[in-house]
Amino acid sequence: MELGERRGDMKVIVTHDVDHLYSTEHLFDGILLKYAFRVVMERLGGMLSTREFMFRLGDLFRKTWHHVDEVMDFDEANGIPSTFFFAMNKGVGLNYDYHSALPVIQRVISRGFDCGVHGIEFEDRNQIEAEYQRFKILIGKSDFGIRMHYLRRNEGTLEKLNQAGYLFDSSEFTFKTPYKIGAMWEFPLHIMDSNEFYEGKSWQTEKRELIIEKTKDRIAKLAEKNYPYLTLLFHDRYFCSSYESYKLWYKEIIQYLKDNGHQFSSFKEVLHELES
Ligand SMILES: [Zn+2]
Repeated sequence: MELGERRGDMKVIVTHDVDHLYSTEHLFDGILLKYAFRVVMERLGGMLSTREFMFRLGDLFRKTWHHVDEVMDFDEANGIPSTFFFAMNKGVGLNYDYHSALPVIQRVISRGFDCGVHGIEFEDRNQIEAEYQRFKILIGKSDFGIRMHYLRRNEGTLEKLNQAGYLFDSSEFTFKTPYKIGAMWEFPLHIMDSNEFYEGKSWQTEKRELIIEKTKDRIAKLAEKNYPYLTLLFHDRYFCSSYESYKLWYKEIIQYLKDNGHQFSSFKEVLHELES
């Protein structure tokens, strides 16, 4: 890693993967059943307050599952130029039609936030290019990046993303600084909400307070090592009362970053900086 003349303050790139739009996408794909099972297991494990448990069960009957607009309100109020990733294909547990994402994408763009592709295909080159083309036609621009759904990739994926024309990718989950693959920048992902909450398990097994402290520690360690950039993922789906713990995690981590003098930036801003 290249270390600059820094004093520990990082530029933080905040991102949001949009995995769901409406609960009705999952009427026949088994996701609602898996969801209910996880809710019960977390309640039995003592991880959910009665309030959070009731809200979470209520989501089975609530239509809108995305919280893109609420996240934009929060990010805007906190001066965070975040990026939202939308899928142009259906994938594991992700079942919305890309056309139905258009009104949401338009709201994201009109409010001055950035958006990119939440990639599904990670092997077949034609399918990878098809996702790129769909998004390009949808938004009428070609300067956008990608993050793979579930960070899925193999040894050839990043090169195929580069060839498809993506400006950047943020699917490598490692503690590295940005680097180039052909013309495309790779922005490794450092902090991911679901990883903090599940840590490889099927449901949450640790108390929220402990999880928040662990995330803060992780960030502090990166700052100590003089990381210039930090990439963070918070799924918009969790910005609601059903996921009160996650929402609180996000708010506390954002506050922690501010309190410690870190700044918020975007992929494009950093990319510009790196290119010059
Ligand atoms: Zn995803």
